[in-house]
Amino acid sequence: MKNIKLDFPIFSKKPELVYLDSAATTQKPSCVIESLREFYETSCSNINRGSYSLSFEATKKWDEARNSIKKFLGVAQDGDLIFTKNATESLNLVAYGLSSSLTPGDLVAISILEHHSNFVPWQQLSQRFGFKLEIIPADLEGNIDESFFIKILERGPKVVALTHCSHVLGTILPIERLGRLARDAGAKVVIDGTQMVPHSLVNLSELPVDFYAFSGHKLFGPNGIGCLYGKLTELESLPPFIFGGDMIFDVTEAYTIFSKPPRKFEAGTQSIGDAIGLAAATDYLANIGMENIRKYKSDLTNYLIDSLKEIPNLKIYGPKNQRAGLVSFSIDEIHSHDVSQILSSRGVCVRSGQHCAQPLMRRMGIDSLTRVSVHIYNTKSDIDALCSGLRDVIRIFS
Ligand SMILES: *Cc1c(COP(=O)(O)O)cnc(C)c1O
Repeated sequence: MKNIKLDFPIFSKKPELVYLDSAATTQKPSCVIESLREFYETSCSNINRGSYSLSFEATKKWDEARNSIKKFLGVAQDGDLIFTKNATESLNLVAYGLSSSLTPGDLVAISILEHHSNFVPWQQLSQRFGFKLEIIPADLEGNIDESFFIKILERGPKVVALTHCSHVLGTILPIERLGRLARDAGAKVVIDGTQMVPHSLVNLSELPVDFYAFSGHKLFGPNGIGCLYGKLTELESLPPFIFGGDMIFDVTEAYTIFSKPPRKFEAGTQSIGDAIGLAAATDYLANIGMENIRKYKSDLTNYLIDSLKEIPNLKIYGPKNQRAGLVSFSIDEIHSHDVSQILSSRGVCVRSGQHCAQPLMRRMGIDSLTRVSVHIYNTKSDIDALCSGLRDVIRIFS
């Protein structure tokens, strides 16, 4: 691959930066930054309601942005894409919407691997509405317990909500199979794709899912924009999450008729520029090719794992085989916050702590982990800088 780092202005402004936290947010290529600037310099206005050409132009760009992201994800005629603020809002939108038709005695299943944003909403709503919540366990490699899963399916859950890729362990779940099993059992399938979409090609028309959520900022896009994919029939029956302007067809004193999806779920003025920025990001990724990206990340992750294995007293978590571009580890007796702080003083950015997955950490019996995540702008020299920093950490604590 060409020198991808050149596409990301932050690396020329901060030449010392070793950024290994792309699972928390990715850096932005200049085409994304430029697309924001261009929108605000040339087309800034509100959409859908203007009667002048500037507003038509902004509306056109907004529609084109949605179409371009739909194309990137293989969204077919029977599905659509809603713009939200982030994956958290997408998952809340689904959880609130589906919960409204659940009654006590109904069952929802999630996994222990879930990010808090696909865990806390279901937990809180089950306490509020009285439906039952089952949590599917996983082993230390992040593989969910399939016999437990099958047993749950025999009880006819109304919803199964799973992550596509663990943000702590890097495990990729076999959603093609699990989704089909869940659907055959009559459940609606909700998938958190936040770590998967930036990692490899996701074709939503081929996946057995009803809803699929992700964030733009982990996909080279701006902050403040996320998406929720839904099957059209599901989006039509799901009640709206937020009420207000722009999502209505007719309002009388007594009742309101909502617009069709996706507008039904897009109340109020949207993050127009950010949606356009996200489309610039998906165009950028499509241009490099998601399969090239996956291969590059996998090779670099293998190099990362091999390098980490040479560090004494370091324990790597997660699957032995296929994983996304992230690795979590602990070092005997040294707290992950100390690890990340010392690395930071050497310009190396990694994540430490509980990674918005406290139930998983508790079940694994781990207090905290250090997580390293790579993307296409990283190179072997970044990994070498990380490992030399880790050797310093061990020296300081020995
Ligand atoms: C980051 C993350 C989220 C939450 O994303 P936000 O952008 O903070 O809403 C949800 N799920 C996974 C797997 C994540 O990694």
